Amino acid sequence: MAGSDVLSTALDRVIDPSTGVGLVASGRAAAPRQAGGTVDAMIEVGGLDAVERDAVEQQARAALSAVPGVENVRILLTAERAAGPRLIAVASGKGGVGKSTVAANLAIALMRMGMKVGLVDADIYGPSQPRLLDADVKPEAHDGKLVPVLTKSGVPMLSLGQLVAPGQAVAWRGPMAGKALDQLVDAHWGGAEILIVDMPPGTGDVQLSMIQKHKPAGAVIVSTPQDLALIDAERAIDLFNKAGVPIIGLVENMAGYQCPSCGEISDPFGNGGTEAEAARLGLPFLGRIPLAIDIRKASDAGTPDPAPFAAVAREVAARLNR
Ligand code: ADP
Repeated sequence: MAGSDVLSTALDRVIDPSTGVGLVASGRAAAPRQAGGTVDAMIEVGGLDAVERDAVEQQARAALSAVPGVENVRILLTAERAAGPRLIAVASGKGGVGKSTVAANLAIALMRMGMKVGLVDADIYGPSQPRLLDADVKPEAHDGKLVPVLTKSGVPMLSLGQLVAPGQAVAWRGPMAGKALDQLVDAHWGGAEILIVDMPPGTGDVQLSMIQKHKPAGAVIVSTPQDLALIDAERAIDLFNKAGVPIIGLVENMAGYQCPSCGEISDPFGNGGTEAEAARLGLPFLGRIPLAIDIRKASDAGTPDPAPFAAVAREVAARLNR
């Protein structure tokens, strides 16, 4: 009969997709038990998707079957570990395209559709969610973890802007910024199913390490219609591709100017550029948000009205559930 350490070593050669180390080392599996030629292994698969679960089960079966003396392998998959919220990164290639505005309104719109949503403001260069959602208060901590602030919109939120003085976070080096961002994500999010993450604009190391570490379920890319903005958006898309994060789709913001008196829409930045770019890259186009004074006023007043973002939110929800 093979010793339990031989079986553990065999099982540990199977890599846990969420941590990148072996199933035993990552705490997903205890030492398998053997009785006669039969081996029983219990693997905790909470937080893994269906494809990853199947792969882990098959690889574990193959690894244990290869141990001399093993004739029959029984694998029990359990999912006790809390799955935790799924992250949706809202990103852009550069600042000023309305990424934070889209993130806040998307969060509120998804909440009004019945989802349990939280909002993480990870924009180290200009954390604007406390102002957008009129919630400039310091979050408390319990058991070493932050407790999100419940904003007037009903969406719980954590922002770097609540933790540091304006401008301070910009001076951080990568590891410090990364640690601060970890605190925002690994917080007491309660029953939140989805965390909308307002990403730092751009495609640097802070962004990449955050994506690699927290593995968003998908990314929403915000761009304005101009060519220059679209070139930057493509860089952001590349970054997510590099990290294996699926692109949920592209949003065109400031897509035409809505006249406040007559409601007519004109196109100071051109129109349709983002949709054409999405088509060129083979990615979903999620919708178009006009450049409207009401959106800017509501943002400045800390009272966002998500109505213009509802169609985009429905597209995001539909693609998430697919
Ligand atoms: P980013 O997060 O990309 O830097 P913000 O969301 O902070 O951009 O938006 C930049 C400015 O543009 C803000 O003043 C915001 O109110 C305004 N803004 C964003 N989207 C729109 C829009 N669709 N119509 C009008 N103003 C907008």
